Amino acid sequence: MIEATLVSGFLGAGKTTWLAAHLGSAGPVDLVVVNDFADEGVDHLLLRDAAGRAGARIAAVVGGCACCERLEDLRRTLLDAVNRHHRTGAGRAGHVIVETSGLAEPQRIARLLDQDPVLRTNVALRTLVIVVDGLDGRRLLRHRAAVRAQVTLADRIVLTRADLARDDELGELAATVRRLNPSAGTVASGLGHERPVVPVEPPVPDVFDDTGPEARDLRSWSVRLGSGTSWAEYALWLDAVCRAHPQRLLRSKGRVPTADGPLLVQSMGAEIARPVPADDTAGTSMVYILDGLAPEVLERSLRTFVPSAFPARPEPAADPVA
Ligand SMILES: [Zn+2]
Repeated sequence: MIEATLVSGFLGAGKTTWLAAHLGSAGPVDLVVVNDFADEGVDHLLLRDAAGRAGARIAAVVGGCACCERLEDLRRTLLDAVNRHHRTGAGRAGHVIVETSGLAEPQRIARLLDQDPVLRTNVALRTLVIVVDGLDGRRLLRHRAAVRAQVTLADRIVLTRADLARDDELGELAATVRRLNPSAGTVASGLGHERPVVPVEPPVPDVFDDTGPEARDLRSWSVRLGSGTSWAEYALWLDAVCRAHPQRLLRSKGRVPTADGPLLVQSMGAEIARPVPADDTAGTSMVYILDGLAPEVLERSLRTFVPSAFPARPEPAADPVA
């Protein structure tokens, strides 16, 4: 099995710089796929050096966006990685990082991984990292729905240019990000170092001004599923909810403790990633990011269709005195 990390973020957010600085610290990486509109960018060379030091191959998907007009190139590149993995890496987990163009929609790449029969059984989406410009992020988040959409899907959010931004600016940006995605881990990054960032409520709250009349109502809900959750029940339920409400259940991710062991299960819109055995990064709960869907409604549905996730409390012992 090959685990895939997607790294995305709006144009100029500093994706490549961050990736080049942290490539070595992410554990072994077999391949870095870089998607660039231009045929060969400067960023590319920076990353090529870093990939070389980390022992990773680098492949470029150029001349268009890898989630749409160059999707076939991305498919071929990933299929080639699967072939190589079978030849040389059998028995160990592989790791591929895909750096998308700034305009890519991560859901489309998740769909490719889900729908291609070979990729579906060989590549598991593990983590979605979204990189946000630490200097200009709040303005972008206020004015661009596409950037907000990326942030709501992320597992990890990196605020770049932390060496140039003031602490209060970064804190306010972190608060805006937390509003959009309360469950993602957020760090600040600058000059090759990452550090925690404490969200600070901005004195003037953000107004997202391009949402139109239907302002988004983003909420998150998390629940710890009982051990012995039936995978069949959970998979059927998740599939039904994702198909019926891809715009309302934006993302789900976390641990499903089945009788056969814990699984890391995640979905992005209508796409459900192939489940993989859960490790420590899976956390202990399932987290759901909802848009215009009340957590109580989702919980009622989950309790109805996945009763095995909510084992009945043990009967209280009979009172020996009574
Ligand atoms: Zn695209």
